[in-house]
Amino acid sequence: MNRFYVTTAIPYVNGSPHLGHALEVVQADVLARGRRLRGDRVRFLSGTDDNALKNVLAAEAAGVLVAEYVAARADEFEELGQTLGLSLDDYIRTSTDQRHRPGVERLWRAAAVADDLYVRDYEGLYCLGCEQFYKPGELDDGRCPEHGTEPDLVSERNWFFRLGRYTQPLLDAIESGRLRIEPEARRNEVVVFVQAGLEDISVSRSAERARGWGIPVPNDPEQVIYVWYDALSNYISALGYGDNGPEYRHWWVESDERVHVIGKGILRFHAVYWPAFLLSAGEPLPTAIYVHDYLTINGAKISKSTGNIINPTDLVESYGADALRWWLAIDVPRLGDADFTEQRLVNRANQDLANGYGNLVNRITTLLEKHRPEGPPPPPSSDPLLDLADQARSDVHDALARFDIRAAALATESLIRAANAYIQERRPWEHAPSDAAELKKPGEFEHTIGSLYATVRTIAELLQIFTPELAARALSHLEQRTPGIIQPRIEAQTN
Ligand SMILES: [Zn+2]
Repeated sequence: MNRFYVTTAIPYVNGSPHLGHALEVVQADVLARGRRLRGDRVRFLSGTDDNALKNVLAAEAAGVLVAEYVAARADEFEELGQTLGLSLDDYIRTSTDQRHRPGVERLWRAAAVADDLYVRDYEGLYCLGCEQFYKPGELDDGRCPEHGTEPDLVSERNWFFRLGRYTQPLLDAIESGRLRIEPEARRNEVVVFVQAGLEDISVSRSAERARGWGIPVPNDPEQVIYVWYDALSNYISALGYGDNGPEYRHWWVESDERVHVIGKGILRFHAVYWPAFLLSAGEPLPTAIYVHDYLTINGAKISKSTGNIINPTDLVESYGADALRWWLAIDVPRLGDADFTEQRLVNRANQDLANGYGNLVNRITTLLEKHRPEGPPPPPSSDPLLDLADQARSDVHDALARFDIRAAALATESLIRAANAYIQERRPWEHAPSDAAELKKPGEFEHTIGSLYATVRTIAELLQIFTPELAARALSHLEQRTPGIIQPRIEAQTN
């Protein structure tokens, strides 16, 4: 049995979660659920980055204690996971979870033992939003390419990591496929960046500049560990890397796949820095990094400063978790930004879930209740619809293996359409056993209903990946053969 470990990035908690966060956690959840359905053993981790300097500044601006501010925001992120129906196995908060700090310290010490850490004075342009230094040539017109803000000139004495040493080992890992980066365009971006040669990076901050928040550098309490070094470690600290526990061995060292789901803005941290830290410590690399693009809302970038923010919890309250999950799965392409509107979410839910699937289940349970109260007939030994169902199942798993979540959702949706076309064409109600029609075409009703029943069950199984609440309702109606509206139509509250 395959072992599959999947994580989301851990967002900093300087504000409430927005729709972009929902996209990422739903994508990771779809991968986790798809693997469980296939029979793999899965561990799914998410969490929050509590130690970022941005959190400290947001707390100061709000006039509350950092720990209180972080706890309240982190609660919102954890609650969003429940609201969206995530099948999480674990959740880590880096400031309060007892497993985290020993893991970060162990990774740091391992780099020190490898002679990859040294102290030097440094002056550079620092974007607080990214929490990273930029070279002048990397800026757009003097501004951060991610945030559009001017970086600060910062000079201090820091610990540095010998990233330059890992240029060739990283290229080897990526080019051999030992470290997959998907989609390919993102992989190419990383290769170009690494091929240009890597410079050593600063991996600590003065404790003073960090306002004393964060994890102190072992044996140098004047410095705190750079927040990215700290945050990236969560993927293994949560498994008990700090004391080399059994879960770390089971889910990281010996796992068949170790997959990080991240946004394009933090690609370099995950595909360059993080693997280098692991190589330095002599630990296995992730096997794959899947990178999603961004959402826009009504055509504009999600941004706190322009107020273009939608709280995903509000969408779930208005439309249900399944409708939001379905839109995120079926309308967001693997590469390129996707534009969200409430009308698009509503159209998809009504077309595919309510009309396409819900109605179909209702028609089939109605026919069964009326004509087969003793239970559904077994599926026929062969039928074109059953072939399509088998094909859809393997298409879904193949698509998820290449991190094409949209293709997996579209394969499910095309089976829904095929089943609707089949029932329209075969018209099983005209062959119901009580009718004279049965004499003309014996076994026709049994054959058609047997095939349809097996197919709507396959669809319910596949929908467990995307819309778990609807899938559970469908299975319960099918098992009890009770007709009803399992997915009500919804209406957009705004455009
Ligand atoms: Zn930035």
